[in-house]
Amino acid sequence: MSILAYIETWEGKFKKTSFEAAAFASKLAAEMGVEAHAVVLNAQDDPSVLGQYGISKVFSAGDAGDFNNYVWSNTLVNVAKESGAKGLIISGTFGGKMILPLAAVAFDAGLVTNISDFPSSVSPLIVRRSAFSSKGFVDYEVKTERFVLSIIPNGIGLPEAKEAAAEVQTVAAVKDGVAEVKVLDVDRVKGKIPLPEAEMVVSAGRGLKDASNWNLIEDLAEALGASTACSKPVSDMGWRPHSEHVGQTGIAINPNLYIAIGISGAIQHLAGVSASKKIVVINTDNEAPFFKAADYGIVGDAFEVVPKLTEAIRKFKADN
Ligand SMILES: Cc1cc2nc3c(=O)[nH]c(=O)nc-3n(C[C@H](O)[C@H](O)[C@H](O)COP(=O)(O)OP(=O)(O)OC[C@H]3O[C@@H](n4cnc5c(N)ncnc54)[C@H](O)[C@@H]3O)c2cc1C
Repeated sequence: MSILAYIETWEGKFKKTSFEAAAFASKLAAEMGVEAHAVVLNAQDDPSVLGQYGISKVFSAGDAGDFNNYVWSNTLVNVAKESGAKGLIISGTFGGKMILPLAAVAFDAGLVTNISDFPSSVSPLIVRRSAFSSKGFVDYEVKTERFVLSIIPNGIGLPEAKEAAAEVQTVAAVKDGVAEVKVLDVDRVKGKIPLPEAEMVVSAGRGLKDASNWNLIEDLAEALGASTACSKPVSDMGWRPHSEHVGQTGIAINPNLYIAIGISGAIQHLAGVSASKKIVVINTDNEAPFFKAADYGIVGDAFEVVPKLTEAIRKFKADN
């Protein structure tokens, strides 16, 4: 019996969210008194490093070809069935969401998505999921014999890696009966931490007045080592790429720090960012709704406040 983590890769490299899935699976397995295993497809990184997060055995399929959610799901479920797993842990990334429902059906398992915390009980299994665009939580009791749990990326955190190596077993990808998908092109934002994985995000809205003012935001983000994001109108107007749009209709994020500059805090924006651990709001209007969701607020003009903040951070980093 085991709990099986799905390890997503990007260009063969393990994603941080995959280590989170591995750590979650191994903690759950330990509490259930079973082993923690993992499945990875097309890895170039060494799968044995997953031992650092408590995985004892990794099933590695190197022949999966281009991403095809049916092949990925079939391979994952095949390993799960053959190795006697009772639960699958998948990070709710874009790629994870593409295989979750398929895996749950093929594994004949109950599915709970958006899990924001470690289960409060393992017998019965009670998991907490974030609901209503992160404005509430729901506790679910999982009554099915098998389960698939998807955890919020960047939501539960990563324990310290320990010195251990997992056993690696090579398996074949399951491609039978699946129409071949050929990925022709991938348009990826280069040189930045993907927003769902970012620990710090500097975000700006219409209060910045014009695309040409974004150097303020990029300078602050660079000083902090943060990623950049924006409100929907900003990406709609073409001031910033759509890949930076956060909110209900954009990307949902959970960074440790979210700095919102010149963003009013409309409910649709908050829906994607309110799970951030600390929120700092900079706005000229002291009645901007965002202040109600803020941990720290600065009522002031972004064009005055942001350069001073950037300078102070640079000085602090240089002195420490
Ligand atoms: C179905 C639907 C889905 C939506 N999905 C999303 C979504 O996913 N994400 C999203 O962001 N929006 C979304 N919206 C839009 C949302 O309702 C708001 O219109 C939008 O978030 C407002 O963007 P903003 O805060 O940048 O602009 P504004 O509302 O215009 O706010 C600008 C803010 O900047 C402040 N400001 C002005 N000058 C300065 C200055 N010099 N210094 C500091 N502050 C200043 C102002 O006081 C104001 O608070 C959605 C709307 C709908 C109807």
